[in-house]
This record gives sequence, C-alpha cells and structure tokens, in this order.
Amino acid sequence: MIAAIYPGSFDPITKGHQSIALRASNIFDHLIIAIGKNTDKQCMFSMEERLLFIQKTFADIKKISVVSYEGLTIDFCKKNNIRYIVRGLRSDMDWGIESTIAHANRLLSPLIETLFLLTEPQYAGISSSVVRDILINRGDVSAFVPDNILDIINK
Ligand code: ADP
Repeated sequence: MIAAIYPGSFDPITKGHQSIALRASNIFDHLIIAIGKNTDKQCMFSMEERLLFIQKTFADIKKISVVSYEGLTIDFCKKNNIRYIVRGLRSDMDWGIESTIAHANRLLSPLIETLFLLTEPQYAGISSSVVRDILINRGDVSAFVPDNILDIINK
C-alpha cells in the first residue's frame, strides 16, 4: 500500500486544499492530511477545530484521514513509513516557498519525494488567509471553504 502525506496548517481548510487532497487520494492508496504544530504561527482556529473541519470535509472518503503532528515533516514520514509528500502550487510565489522547503527536505532525507499538484484554475485565488480575513469581517465564505463545514465555520 502506498501512502502519502499532505502537510500544512489548514487554518482553515479551503476548497483549494480539498481539491488537492481529493486529487492526491486518486493517485495513492491512502492520503494522510497532517496538520503541523507550528510554534511561530499564530492560528485563528485551534488544532481541534482544524482537525474537525478536515474530518467533516472528508467524512465520506475512507482513503483520506487526518492527524496532527509536531516536529519535522520528514521525521513524521520516517516514523510512519511514508515516502511521499504532496503539496499544492498556485503561483510562482508558492514555487519560491515550496521549492525551498522541498530542497531542504531532500537534503535531510533523499528517500522522500515531494510531489506538487498544480491547483485547479478556479482555486488559484483561494488561500486560508483570505478566508480568515472574510470571516473576521463577517463576509460570506461559501465560495472558499468546503460545503460540509459551512455551518460550523460560521459559528
Ligand atoms: P502552510 O502553512 O504549510 O503553507 P497551508 O495550509 O497554507 O500550509 O497550505 C498547505 C499546502 O496547500 C501548501 O502546499 C499550499 O501551497 C497548498 N495550497 C494552499 N492553498 C491552495 C489552493 N488554493 N490550491 C492549491 N494548493 C493550495
């Protein structure tokens, strides 16, 4: 069985993340969405809330599970025998950040491959930070977040 990990902050999960996860789940036998505990990032949603949003989003999809982890992503991969990291790309801005992370991971662990999926064009403008901004200003996020979580995210 070939499993992959899709790591990130998911603060909160968006339709862009949802689409990448679904596409990756069609490539691998199992996809683990892994929410990293990042000490320097101040999150809008707690770890419990972010886990719940993702659980609800993929409640009907057995091939996708969600966990939280602490420490380096490659250490999580090694501990769980995972050799593939999936990340999403929206633009050349993402490429700058993503290539730095992927190169570092490659130097740390040459056996682990990072695979990039290019976003669907309709999700290129969606980011968690835009969603947070809309929520803070009491706007409508229905075009931005998975339908299954609309009721709980608006609370
Ligand atoms: P991080 O804090 O690690 O950047 P994010 O939760 O913001 O985590 O994103 C996780 C991954 O999903 C990253 O690879 C990011 O580029 C990708 N991503 C974010 N938004 C989108 C989107 N709209 N379409 C495709 N990929 C996306």
